[in-house]
Amino acid sequence: MRSKLPDVGTTIFTVMSRMAQEHGAINLSQGFPDFDCPLRLRELVAHYLNDHKNQYPPMTGIPALREQIAAKVLDLYGCHADMDQEVTVTSGATEAIFDAVQATVCSGDEVIVFDPAYDSYVPAITLAGGIAVHIPLALPDFHVDWNLVKDNITERTRLIIINTPHNPSGAVFSAQDMHTLAELIRGREIYVISDEVYEHMVYDGGTHESVLRHEELRQRSFAVFSFGKTYHATGWKLAYCVAPPALTTEFRKVHQFVTFTSPSFIQYAIADFMKECPEHAKELPAFYEEKRDTFCRLISNSRFTFTPSRGTYFQLVDYGAISTQRDAEFANYLTQVKGVAAIPLSPFYEKAPQNTLLRFCFCKDDSTLEAAAEILCKL
Ligand code: PMP
Ligand code: GLN
Repeated sequence: MRSKLPDVGTTIFTVMSRMAQEHGAINLSQGFPDFDCPLRLRELVAHYLNDHKNQYPPMTGIPALREQIAAKVLDLYGCHADMDQEVTVTSGATEAIFDAVQATVCSGDEVIVFDPAYDSYVPAITLAGGIAVHIPLALPDFHVDWNLVKDNITERTRLIIINTPHNPSGAVFSAQDMHTLAELIRGREIYVISDEVYEHMVYDGGTHESVLRHEELRQRSFAVFSFGKTYHATGWKLAYCVAPPALTTEFRKVHQFVTFTSPSFIQYAIADFMKECPEHAKELPAFYEEKRDTFCRLISNSRFTFTPSRGTYFQLVDYGAISTQRDAEFANYLTQVKGVAAIPLSPFYEKAPQNTLLRFCFCKDDSTLEAAAEILCKL
């Protein structure tokens, strides 16, 4: 059959998790916790599952959840979002990103993405008939070279996809990055998708610079967040998009025909949990910073070199002192022979640079991190 995505294979997350399972490796590849989500939240889900909340909820998400989302973005980012016109609940951030791309990109439109780019962006652009314009993040700290962005903006640029905190590098945008982005798109019909699924994972006293804090950017942006990350429940695939009314109108036209809506009982449960336990999200940076520190301490005597991650629940390491293999080969070797699975970076690039970096996920129980580190320190 003719392929609409001839260059796309199976996502690296599925490939590496499957390989980890087949070889009995400790899985520090795909990003998901190996500990459970909060007990109270599970109780609420069970309650609503058994309380007749099993039919179609509203297409935009249940009001109680949209109300909590609006309260959250006001509290954290000083953003006044209208829950009816500007907040939409989706089936994962993946769906929200897909919807926003389909809503904005027409055939021949250019979309700027920063490599390494989360792997769902480019296929979504391609399916919309758009052209991905890849701009590499600058090494060693994966910052955006805004002059390069300026040079790549054309009459056909319709969208820029940013991701902060950044998967896989852990880099975070500064307020200055946001100001520069706003300046670059001022007066042009360019929209922004701001993938902020790791909003609560910024370390060392840093601040998450949401587009929602920046009034001018907010008016052009689809800000995307995921309950999967915040509540340790990646399998529930529940997320949301905050965007101004005109953008939300177009977004919903797509959303209603991609998934229409998302599981009702989980929406009710999360709405209650957000209200009952606001401290959960507020405590996340410290919770994950400790995990990062534990992992970094555990591998500090290994031959991997690294700079502690500034955000996300991923740690990049350089294995150059251990092997000269390419990253995918080394990740396969590490998984199949040594028993620890990691994610190579090359699948997130149009043209991968010749370096020796791997991504480890540290949102795991300490016992998992200890078992993995014991192996990693022997390499
Ligand atoms: N964006 C980034 C940067 C991610 O890392 C992920 C997944 N972990 C997603 C989007 C998708 O999130 P979800 O599981 O809510 O679809
Ligand atoms: N976002 C997760 C990661 O980066 C994986 C999501 C997925 O498997 N689709 O590991």
